[in-house]
Amino acid sequence: DRSGEAEFRTVVALSEYRPVAAGKVRELYEVDDEHLLMVASDRVSAYDHVLETPIPDKGRVLTAMSVFWFELLGDLIDSHLVAADDPRIPDEVRGRALLVRKLEMLPVECVARGYLSGSGLVEYRETGRVCGVPLPDGLTEASRLPEPIFTPATKAELGEHDENVSLDAVVDKVGRERAEQLRDTTLRIYERAAEHARTRGVILADTKFEFGLAADGTLVLGDEVLTPDSSRYWPADEYAPGRSQPSFDKQYVRDWLTSPESGWDRASDVPPPPLPDEVVAATRARYVEAYERITGRDLTDWPS
Ligand code: ATP
Ligand code: MG
Repeated sequence: DRSGEAEFRTVVALSEYRPVAAGKVRELYEVDDEHLLMVASDRVSAYDHVLETPIPDKGRVLTAMSVFWFELLGDLIDSHLVAADDPRIPDEVRGRALLVRKLEMLPVECVARGYLSGSGLVEYRETGRVCGVPLPDGLTEASRLPEPIFTPATKAELGEHDENVSLDAVVDKVGRERAEQLRDTTLRIYERAAEHARTRGVILADTKFEFGLAADGTLVLGDEVLTPDSSRYWPADEYAPGRSQPSFDKQYVRDWLTSPESGWDRASDVPPPPLPDEVVAATRARYVEAYERITGRDLTDWPS
């Protein structure tokens, strides 16, 4: 009699897995020699601080969004995704954890930009270039670039910002052939993703990918992909170059933190105060809206 077997679910606790890395908002655990568990928390960062107040469901939204994109991009690039719902995923992180293939990560943050903002804009204003790529005169905050560009960065020490580097610096790290493969692959998947987002009324201004090598040497897309934490998404109907664009996810957090009500001074070293309930609720709704708008899926269908 095997009738009971289908209902059998191995109960694993997160504490059974060895932690291998922890970033500002995510954690990585070792499941076995070939697999990792990538866990997204509900923590949120703003103005270079990780806030003490979590945003409920943020980890689920980012996890579900990564899965959507891994699937959509599947014919362009292999991903590290093994499963989002699997007995090896502990119940306590179900919905915000992915079982992934362990990769040998390449030490390059592969950034594609279709619009000018953030560190790209800063560098352009100083040099007229971004990561060695010359750009036309007269561009401003949020300008659309003549074509998408590859602007790699290298990971900084904890607490520091990643450093923008030229393609030559990537060649020094991984060799010419691999560097050009990273550039071409990054731009190809950015373009496919931006095209999809555009049909959903969303501008994908820029995004960061991390790639790794599988045991057989193939290039595989790792990490989280095309989430609001790794990308700039702008509502297309509010797009206007020359000013900073409304953030799809964190606008309420930013507005409140910089308003007199918060009593917080951005220029100080003091950590930001806890968020009021209304700001938490509005931000949560914004994340869910971003997910549902971009993917056309319903968050209630995602495991929790
Ligand atoms: P930050 O908070 O600034 O992003 P971080 O990048 O160190 O800090 P995370 O982004 O949370 O922290 O860390 C995820 C780590 O896991 C990265 O170093 C990434 O390269 C690594 N990683 C992602 N996918 C895989 C994989 N399939 N195999 C091995 N390592 C991976
Ligand atoms: Mg990271």
